[in-house]
Amino acid sequence: MNDGVVPLRQYPSRRITFACRTCTRSGRYDKATLMKRVGPDEGLVVLRLKIAMALGCKLARATLAGEHTPGAAQCGAYYPGLR
Ligand SMILES: [Zn+2]
Repeated sequence: MNDGVVPLRQYPSRRITFACRTCTRSGRYDKATLMKRVGPDEGLVVLRLKIAMALGCKLARATLAGEHTPGAAQCGAYYPGLR
């Protein structure tokens, strides 16, 4: 599944699993709760960075702030439940 442009409301499950390849953070979230918090149209790519940042990932924070420089390490946030 290409989650590049997929909004949160189209996530195919009620439970959203999140994990990061680079900082080993992970979590499970209720889709309805997340939609209330960020809105149903939030893109899954941005959302996973926001989740990572909320969990304390500095790489995600830098990416969201636009401080990412090409070639530098990126947050490895992804959805283990999506494929
Ligand atoms: Zn991360």
